[in-house]
Amino acid sequence: MAAGEPQADCLFCKILAGDVPATIVRETKDVVAFRDINPQAPTHVLVIPRAHYANAGELGAQAPELAGALLAEAAAVAAAEDLAEAGYRIVFNTGAGAGQTVFHVHAHLLGGRGLSWPPG
Ligand code: AMP
Ligand code: ZN
Repeated sequence: MAAGEPQADCLFCKILAGDVPATIVRETKDVVAFRDINPQAPTHVLVIPRAHYANAGELGAQAPELAGALLAEAAAVAAAEDLAEAGYRIVFNTGAGAGQTVFHVHAHLLGGRGLSWPPG
């Protein structure tokens, strides 16, 4: 399997193909942002590359320019949601032990409420 190719059993590849509905908030030629179905904050948007990489480490190692585009797009979503001044959090759960359940890399963009540290 070539790096970045769509995966038949991947939920987010299905969203990208239009086979599973999602509320898309922004999209570019390489990156799509859509609202999380189970939001953990007033703004909870998932930002994903159109190309399939399993996690942030694989994306960063195999497609660093795309990783940069993903982060820039997360910041653009934050600005569009009026979070730039108050602040926001970008989270990449990486591995099942850290809570990753969908193995198509996604940045969680969270904001609109106080965010405590350390995270759970
Ligand atoms: P993670 O647990 O870090 O892999 O994050 C996966 C995220 O995908 C969770 O926050 C889920 O609520 C979210 N999610 C699962 N199914 C959908 C869906 N169909 N549309 C939007 N978000 C989803
Ligand atoms: Zn995928």
